[in-house]
Amino acid sequence: MYRRILGIEAPWYVERVELKLAEGEVHVYLEHEDVEEWACGECGAEAKPYDHQAERGWRHLDTCQYQTILHARPRAECPEHGVRVVKLPWAEGSSRFTALFEALAIEWLKEASQKAVGEQLGLSWDEIHGLMERAVKRGLERREAESVSKIGVDEKAFRKGHSYFTLVNDLERGRVVYVAEGRRQRSLDGFWETLTEEQKQSLEAVAMDMWDPYVASVREHVPGGEKKIVFDKFHIAKHLGEAVDRVRRGEQKTLKAAGDDRLTGTRYDWLRNPARMEPQDRKQFGQLRNSGLKTARAWALKETGMALFGYVYERPARKHFRWWHNWAVRSRLKPMIEVGRLLKRGFENVITYLRHRVTNAASESINAKIQWVKYTARGFRNKQNFANAIYFHCGGLDLAPDSTK
Ligand SMILES: [Zn+2]
Repeated sequence: MYRRILGIEAPWYVERVELKLAEGEVHVYLEHEDVEEWACGECGAEAKPYDHQAERGWRHLDTCQYQTILHARPRAECPEHGVRVVKLPWAEGSSRFTALFEALAIEWLKEASQKAVGEQLGLSWDEIHGLMERAVKRGLERREAESVSKIGVDEKAFRKGHSYFTLVNDLERGRVVYVAEGRRQRSLDGFWETLTEEQKQSLEAVAMDMWDPYVASVREHVPGGEKKIVFDKFHIAKHLGEAVDRVRRGEQKTLKAAGDDRLTGTRYDWLRNPARMEPQDRKQFGQLRNSGLKTARAWALKETGMALFGYVYERPARKHFRWWHNWAVRSRLKPMIEVGRLLKRGFENVITYLRHRVTNAASESINAKIQWVKYTARGFRNKQNFANAIYFHCGGLDLAPDSTK
């Protein structure tokens, strides 16, 4: 029965089956007829039979309620890799699980937290991370050089504020194509090496925050990169929003000292889109907007600044920006002057938005998924596991073991 349900073929056969009912285990011992050649478990090359090692086990799909373990022993000598376990039809490389078991665990890991999968399938953190690492390695090796035309570069904190990762997202297919530690130029430099010359040529736009190390990397590695960088509209909105908030905090102190509480509790009103407010709130906010407060002026600057992205043509957009920048730097509001200068300095890569119309919005949905990954995998003991989990869940990779396909 086991020979048939395991799909074992010559030279392999089932030698015996042992039930360990107390332990809840079924052990299936596989033996083989004499063979002249094995394939190396590492590379698949022809390898001479070498010896039979002490039994080695592979966890397979359960038999009813019993954990099922396959055993086999032959080793062979590969000209390149030396003595290795032979290539087995039911498992890959150095895994202690059969391919079908790995495929099952992978499917579950896509749906549930690492902790839940570990508990349900009886796997340790290390086993889960090993499974994911092998799956990602397979997936990355299978990936073909497709053309990537629009990408987003983003940073992601690993353990809040302690260290960062650089992520490259394929904006059209909505997947992460590269993960590297840090957020320096060299963090992004590694990505270009994964692309073919053709892929680099086909790149049209790179959306990113205004971050000099990334800018430098694109300029250095992407043909015509200078004109392909698009500073992300949502990051710009965030810079403007933060500037408004700094104005509000400063003004709030002064007002409060004078017994004026008009700004109290309004922090989020200045960050919201008035079009989406309830009519009652909008009316109240309308009074605040027209109050002549510094915060109201800063807010008007933010809204007017963002109007840039509504333009279709470059010439009027440039005109709008010149006028806006003038207003910002003369506003006597320090945070707004600073953000005005920031935008002016990077303006040639802000205006590229009108040509390419890309934002990191797709990255934001990937970010939400990464938040989930972080939340459901509190056991990240190292950064590599975190990077693997990002590829696993957001990389759009084909993860299943070969023999199960
Ligand atoms: Zn080999």
